[in-house]
Amino acid sequence: MLSKTYPRICVTGGAGFIGSHLCRRLIAEGVEVLCVDNYYTGARSNIVDLIGNPLFEVLRHDITMPLFIETDAIFNLACPASPIHYQYDPVQTTRVSVDGSINVLGLARRTGARVLQASTSEVYGDPAVHPQPETYLGNVNPIGIRACYDEGKRCAETLFFDYHRQYGTSIKVARIFNTFGPHMQPNDGRVVSNFIVQALRGEPITLHGDGSQTRSFAYVDDIVDGLIRLMLSDEGFTGPVNLGNPTEISMRILAETIVDIVGSSSELVFRPLPQDDPRRRCPDIALAEQALQWKPTVTVRDGLERTVAYFSKTLAA
Ligand code: UDP
Repeated sequence: MLSKTYPRICVTGGAGFIGSHLCRRLIAEGVEVLCVDNYYTGARSNIVDLIGNPLFEVLRHDITMPLFIETDAIFNLACPASPIHYQYDPVQTTRVSVDGSINVLGLARRTGARVLQASTSEVYGDPAVHPQPETYLGNVNPIGIRACYDEGKRCAETLFFDYHRQYGTSIKVARIFNTFGPHMQPNDGRVVSNFIVQALRGEPITLHGDGSQTRSFAYVDDIVDGLIRLMLSDEGFTGPVNLGNPTEISMRILAETIVDIVGSSSELVFRPLPQDDPRRRCPDIALAEQALQWKPTVTVRDGLERTVAYFSKTLAA
């Protein structure tokens, strides 16, 4: 049981999109949660329902600074993850992944805590292999506008494995593919939140390029479940392991599906494709299936319906 193995868990980025869902789930399982967030892209509104719960504590802290707490396990989720946010201050984005990982790994080393890194499908860059297995080494432009995130996350993986080899730190690395669900920020520029907000407001749906580029979208509850399974996995299994939904769809189909669910009159409009925008992305999840007995359970359509319901309530309020 999670709360027996790890009675106290620290979640960095705990007020963020995935982090807030993770905190909620850990508390439901009886774990004492310390949520650490600097609120750069996280929001108090994401965790307001947890404040006052005796199992929940929040610390406003930036993980590029060292952190002195006691904990049994750490989920390191702190990092801006949407392109417009991580490109706003790219130097700081790299620091969050690199200095942040050094601080979090130092904390794990001092306390003996197990530490899980939220890595990303972006470590594969614009992939030349399809779908992407964990053994694929990636195709990242090291000097492009996405590099602050991609290379930062790649270096974070390096640091995790070096702490593991050099100091015996207990590590887990998850490569999270595109994730969506309630508590995405309506203005974070990501495709699912953008399209849903545009459809609900009857505004044009902004497709980048011709909309033929693909992504594979997992519902947030499935990803949280995968992260917890990974944290509880045998010591010998470090990952990296892909967590994502292997249902690949084009941005054009995504737009049409969202317009259909909302029953919107929005038209599709075409905008320039951003630099280094990956053409295709789809996880090979054979390793997660075998090592964690995990695979997504929520279909993209179901997840989109739940997310549309959340945004229509939030926007109305
Ligand atoms: N995208 C789009 N319209 C938007 C926002 C994004 O067509 O309003 C495209 C974007 O160019 C990319 C895909 O949707 O091809 C996914 O973008 P997102 O920023 O959500 O995530 P990432 O590129 O990091 O996977």
